[in-house]
Amino acid sequence: MSTHKGSISVQTENIFPIIKKFLYSDQEIFLRELISNAIDATTKLKILASKGEMKGELGDLAIEVAVNKEAKTITITDKGIGMTQDEVEKYLNQVAFSSAQEFIDKFKEDANIIGHFGLGFYSAFMVANKVEVNTLSYKEGAKAVQWSCEGEPEYSISSIKKTTRGSEIILHVSPDAEEYLEDSKIQALLDKYCRFLPVEIKFGKKKTYVTDENDESKTKEVEVDNIINNPNPLWAKQPADLTDEDYKSFYNELYPYSQPPLFWIHLNIDYPFNLTGVLYFPKISSALEMQKNKIQLYSNQVYVTDDVKEIVPEFLTLLHGVIDSPDIPLNVSRSYLQSDHNVKKITGYITKKVAEKLQQIFDKQRSEFEDKWNDIGTFVKYGMISEEKFYEKAVHFCLLKNVDNAYFTIDAYKEKIKANQTDKNNKLVVLYTNSAIEQDVYIHSAKAKAYDVLLLDQVLDNHFIQQLEYKNTDLKFVRVDADTVDKLIEKEQSFESVLNTEQIEMLTEKFKSVLKDEHVAVTTAALSPDDQPATITRPEFMRRMKEMQAMQGMNFGNFPDSYNLVINTNHPIYAEKLLILDSEQQTELTNYLYDLALLNQNMLKGPELTKFISKTIKMI
Ligand code: ADP
Repeated sequence: MSTHKGSISVQTENIFPIIKKFLYSDQEIFLRELISNAIDATTKLKILASKGEMKGELGDLAIEVAVNKEAKTITITDKGIGMTQDEVEKYLNQVAFSSAQEFIDKFKEDANIIGHFGLGFYSAFMVANKVEVNTLSYKEGAKAVQWSCEGEPEYSISSIKKTTRGSEIILHVSPDAEEYLEDSKIQALLDKYCRFLPVEIKFGKKKTYVTDENDESKTKEVEVDNIINNPNPLWAKQPADLTDEDYKSFYNELYPYSQPPLFWIHLNIDYPFNLTGVLYFPKISSALEMQKNKIQLYSNQVYVTDDVKEIVPEFLTLLHGVIDSPDIPLNVSRSYLQSDHNVKKITGYITKKVAEKLQQIFDKQRSEFEDKWNDIGTFVKYGMISEEKFYEKAVHFCLLKNVDNAYFTIDAYKEKIKANQTDKNNKLVVLYTNSAIEQDVYIHSAKAKAYDVLLLDQVLDNHFIQQLEYKNTDLKFVRVDADTVDKLIEKEQSFESVLNTEQIEMLTEKFKSVLKDEHVAVTTAALSPDDQPATITRPEFMRRMKEMQAMQGMNFGNFPDSYNLVINTNHPIYAEKLLILDSEQQTELTNYLYDLALLNQNMLKGPELTKFISKTIKMI
């Protein structure tokens, strides 16, 4: 038996401590890297066999992972192409080492990329103080060799007896990494990184129940290989071969115990980059439930990360599913990824695909689309706010819902309100409420004038409204309580005042004297006698500023609340009643009307509300 010794490289004697130190935080990737190598070796063998360049049986190609707690080893065995002595010299001592070296030279400053590819074989030394490789090449007449290295630049190669084709990587686990000798730890890593690897991976045995061949009414317990992966995941198959059930059950495999998805998009592209995947639209019951980072990124079925911010536009991180692309550069820093050409194209492609799918459902299954709008709407609005390209597409299928539960596209809605809701400046005024229950009275008044009122009650709607106004200069959004109903949409026509200036002044003073809140300004207006005698309105601009500020968590200067108390001087209660009362009674009635206006805006609370109720009961 000949043993050959060599030294990996002279100038880099300290590479092993560096590997350990810098990669410590993401130690666990060693298993993914070594299994990926085993997969590569197996895939290469299959290709050679299919080309007739490999003679003999392929046999069972499953890769095996085994832990020996006593010997303190982890072994990864494949039945792939193996390596000859020359190849071991070349690939493990030169190629693998120089790529590990390059990786460390480049990235020791940037801890972020740790965990991404580029480290390969030498990541074994993150957990092992000695690594042995026993390998036999598929080549005819090849001799088995063992490469062994103890974390020093020196290695040795010797010939060994090994009759099975392929490689066996034995890690002698170092004392500080003994947690990896626990089956549960390895099982968890396999579940994380290897779930969908393209070659079967065995890890120990598991118990299962099968029908007893002697008595078919009984089952018996048997031990079978524990195969940890599904080598043919759904996204790698052809959409034409898949049913809805397949997509749903795959969703369940990815996210057990979740509600079924609303629909999905199968991504499949091979030019100008390679990308496959399935994106699911999850069911969202409330805005609080929106979970980002559910999309998993794979590279040739090897799990890479579930942090896909740089690859999909932010609004699409609300989706679930899998993206698999060997073309996304993984061994680079995050900031580089954002400016990468391929990544930009991928982002654009995914955005386009998602928009097309939505348009398709909108065109073909309009009522289903409307039913799902509560869930889809969030994505669509978020996308329209954040992505110019998406806005242009989504504007054709984005829906507006009114308080009577009818849905309209933006264009259809403009058409609908044109006749009755164009103001004197030729702007289309869109009336909306953010709470149909709380603003019931205002909605009622608007409807009495045959105005339509939209329901915009989602967290994002504030931004969405701004965006729509910005994109459609002919539109103006006004919340139903922004002004009195006559002024919501300003038209030329107005009512003559029943009261004279002196009476109006007196009324204004009276109301001012009963105010309890400095943020309320008293104004008068000659409105329809059918409108409320006094109304609290919240001017649109100030309210929006305040809401924006609250949403963005800003707190400089704090916008004050700003309300108007509008007195409808044409309401008969003033001419026919209030003005003929004595001063004390006037104050009492003014107070009462003010309380009613507050009540309408849900602003009468606590002791004031209690007082109001007992006053009312007394009156009755
Ligand atoms: P990479 O896989 O990125 O090429 P590695 O450092 O992981 O880099 O491995 C270096 C080389 O060693 C591989 O390209 C391959 O030729 C060889 N190699 C590693 N593991 C195996 C294996 N299990 N079977 C056959 N060859 C292997």
